[in-house]
Amino acid sequence: MTNPFLDHITNSLHEIESAGLYKRERQIVSPQAGRIDVQLGDTRHDRVVNLGANNYLGLADNPRLTKAARDSLDVEGFGMASVRFICGTKDQHIKLEQRLASFLGKEDAILFAACFDANGGLFEPLLTADDAIISDALNHASIIDGIRLCKAKRFRYANSDMAELEARLVEAKEAGARFVMIATDGVFSMDGHLAKLPEITALAEKYGAIVMVDDCHATGFMGPQGRGTPAHFGVAEGVDIVTGTLGKALGGAIGGYIAGPQPVIDLLRQRARPYLFSNSLPPMIVAAGLEAIDLVEQSDDLRAKLFENTKFWRSGLEALGFDLLDGEHPIVPVMLGDAKLAQEMATQLFDEGVFVAGFFFPVVPKGKARIRTQMNAALSRDDLEFALTAFEKVGKAIGVLT
Ligand SMILES: *Cc1c(COP(=O)(O)O)cnc(C)c1O
Repeated sequence: MTNPFLDHITNSLHEIESAGLYKRERQIVSPQAGRIDVQLGDTRHDRVVNLGANNYLGLADNPRLTKAARDSLDVEGFGMASVRFICGTKDQHIKLEQRLASFLGKEDAILFAACFDANGGLFEPLLTADDAIISDALNHASIIDGIRLCKAKRFRYANSDMAELEARLVEAKEAGARFVMIATDGVFSMDGHLAKLPEITALAEKYGAIVMVDDCHATGFMGPQGRGTPAHFGVAEGVDIVTGTLGKALGGAIGGYIAGPQPVIDLLRQRARPYLFSNSLPPMIVAAGLEAIDLVEQSDDLRAKLFENTKFWRSGLEALGFDLLDGEHPIVPVMLGDAKLAQEMATQLFDEGVFVAGFFFPVVPKGKARIRTQMNAALSRDDLEFALTAFEKVGKAIGVLT
């Protein structure tokens, strides 16, 4: 490797660093849970309140899931050493796909190694240069990348701007698009805002468009029995394709999926590149996924706890005087504006025993840096009161609160 090349890379790193955008990983030395033990350099912080995980239902260390995974390991072995179509399909894969499909009210589903791969593999096999995709400007990176890999014409609308979406639908038709797909996150993960699915599905019907929703931040806890944002809004029928993850509320390990009409899923099995050219999910992950859906379907207790926590946390932060984005989702962003301020606040909160992450460009727009807090069902009232005290202290120390 040439020195000029490495110099160039090193310069990029310096630029990231001096802009205050460098991300350092703290090492968790306990299970993922409401409180975690964390190592940063030489210091260890024990029992830190964890407000940064997508572990919405607290299932990441749930005994039913760990048992299902352990039992599967003993019986089914560790790995599959194959892609699905060669010799990587177990009976359990099909069972989980059917389980996901029925849970989401779709005809069938297809598993991927992650939702990043599901979104990466979704568009290219289904749409061609004769078609169009209309995408919300705040969609997840994996949707953006998936669309880039597809030859369909691309249109974008400002986040949740329904007038712009309608204008793009008209433009796509005028451009001669044969099929038009609207692609949106169910929940925009940086803001915690829900997509306007009633309006989106109505517009899709008006213009004969297909609707795709990525429900990673909703499946398992939004809507009746956790069936996601389409069910939350009562418009599941109008959403044709749903993508999602096992890596958030449904146990938090790994695994993604697409659910939709039978022919769509059948074609994806033939053509979706991340499905064809990447390993199949380990049986233990599939077994725990099945258990997670059972658990989520059987009881509302964890969802009730999650939303009780969300209400308490949001009103606590509001009472302290923090600038929050409005919403009903367990994602509660504390707006700070400046990236370095967000970093500083996260660092000081960590010293006070609270784990949060600062989010800043390129993850959110410049000048919109924030601390994203996330509620989960594993947090107790004591944990939240402890965290509110820390937020008050640090907020005053860095001048965000007066
Ligand atoms: C987390 C997330 C993904 C990626 O899911 P993985 O299974 O972790 O790859 C995709 N889309 C959205 C909206 C997400 O929040």
